[in-house]
Amino acid sequence: MKVLSIKQPWASLIAHGIKDIENRTWKTNFRGRILIHSAKRPIYGKSLFDLLTKDQLQKINEKVGFDASCVWDHYGAIIGSVEIVDCVVNHPSIWAEKGVWNWVLANPIIFDKPIENVKGKLSFWDFTGINEVQIKCPECGSIELAIEDYTTAPFSTYLHTCKCGHVIMESEWLVNNPY
Ligand SMILES: [Zn+2]
Repeated sequence: MKVLSIKQPWASLIAHGIKDIENRTWKTNFRGRILIHSAKRPIYGKSLFDLLTKDQLQKINEKVGFDASCVWDHYGAIIGSVEIVDCVVNHPSIWAEKGVWNWVLANPIIFDKPIENVKGKLSFWDFTGINEVQIKCPECGSIELAIEDYTTAPFSTYLHTCKCGHVIMESEWLVNNPY
């Protein structure tokens, strides 16, 4: 699956659904879901208060509380995923920077257990340890986002708990993959 390495606190803010824009100097035509990798080196020497505007701090407070320790949690880890749905300039979001490309993000997911000790790379890169798929729950018919985890090889993990409570096992894994 495609991955983007992002410095903290930006990576966690995106995975937590707080930051809905990734600002980059380059344009992307890619649309779809990517994994979020938190880079080993954070933005140094600055607290959130120096880094962010009042509106941005307010948004963090609403979502995860004011201490926001969760946004400094993981370094060198794949922490979640998000969809890239557009790439524009001058987006109205409070997270959009002027003079660069604003990648518009949607439907973030934060992993319960991040995949630790993963080295980042520049630009997009590929992580073969994880495949995120849409599966259909055999019990209630809901389309669920589930993870095929190959990092536990030779025993890959196919296990997903549907919102109806049904635990979907590999034998019931009906992939409905639009990507
Ligand atoms: Zn279900």
